[in-house]
Amino acid sequence: MSGEPLVQVCGLHKRYGPVHAVRGLDFHLERGRVLGLLGANGAGKTSTLGMLAGVLAPSEGRVVIAGHDLRRSPLAAKARLGYLPETPPVFQDLTVDEYLHHCARLRGLTGRRLAAAVDAAKSRCGLADSGTRLLGNLSKGYRQRAGLAQAIVHAPDVVILDEPTAGLDPAQMRDLRQVIRALGREHAVILSTHVLPEAQTLCDRVQIMHEGRLALSAPMDALPGDDAGHRVRLRCSPGAGKVAALPMVDAAEEDVDGSLRVRVRGGEDGVVDFAAACAAAGWGLLELSPRRQSLEDLFISIACSDGAREPAA
Ligand code: ATP
Repeated sequence: MSGEPLVQVCGLHKRYGPVHAVRGLDFHLERGRVLGLLGANGAGKTSTLGMLAGVLAPSEGRVVIAGHDLRRSPLAAKARLGYLPETPPVFQDLTVDEYLHHCARLRGLTGRRLAAAVDAAKSRCGLADSGTRLLGNLSKGYRQRAGLAQAIVHAPDVVILDEPTAGLDPAQMRDLRQVIRALGREHAVILSTHVLPEAQTLCDRVQIMHEGRLALSAPMDALPGDDAGHRVRLRCSPGAGKVAALPMVDAAEEDVDGSLRVRVRGGEDGVVDFAAACAAAGWGLLELSPRRQSLEDLFISIACSDGAREPAA
């Protein structure tokens, strides 16, 4: 899981004429990790994924896949990555088997290795019994699986998925997420999504883009919440006003569930003093825990920070 990152991104920019869609991204990703790229419409996610997949030329910056610079050694870099664009690149008139054999041949596989690779990809994507079905007759969920199978048929190190579950029904979403979670154990996966609970369950790390920049990059289990205060439950609450009047308290307000949202000053000492003050006042302290902002809180605070708008020139 450790070692050299499989994906390294340095100073990445994308301009479409006057539109500056991606404005200087820097990040890296190791094997065994799933990175979720979030952002409002127009934030720059698809442009970023296209550049990482080598299908869109950056205006500036560098992408290195498994040690291969995507611009200097495109064939070596692309051999190590698989890409599922927003619309899966499937041919309606081919069967699943014909399509995956074609994709595997394009990836340089032949003979027994090709047959084994196609079987493995089909089995991982839940297509083992669908080889003879025409792609044009498949449901959207199964077409998406075929798209995913073409992205992994050559066992790439890095898998890039642009909104892989968009438009699927809840059961199809659940199935595809299981496939992606399993992929994440062996590969490095980067996916974009608008479904925040999906990011929360699938991803180890989240990056929120806003107007072409990374506005947040954090491990999913340690989202920033330092300024979110403490959640406090008191058996005999005197009300937020009296709590706010304590000398170590900056602010207190009541939450919808009857608990208090309390901002204490003075770091850990302040929190200890606050607990002692609650006990001394006989309020019956039942709970005192740091509040974490939910991913949704973070997303909305970022997406609405200047009013959501398309990246400007
Ligand atoms: P969505 O969630 O709606 O798919 P996104 O975060 O993926 O959005 P991009 O599709 O990367 O965002 O678009 C970023 C910005 O670049 C937008 O302002 C978009 O209009 C613009 N853009 C994207 N592709 C082109 C293009 N080919 N020519 C001109 N502008 C483009």
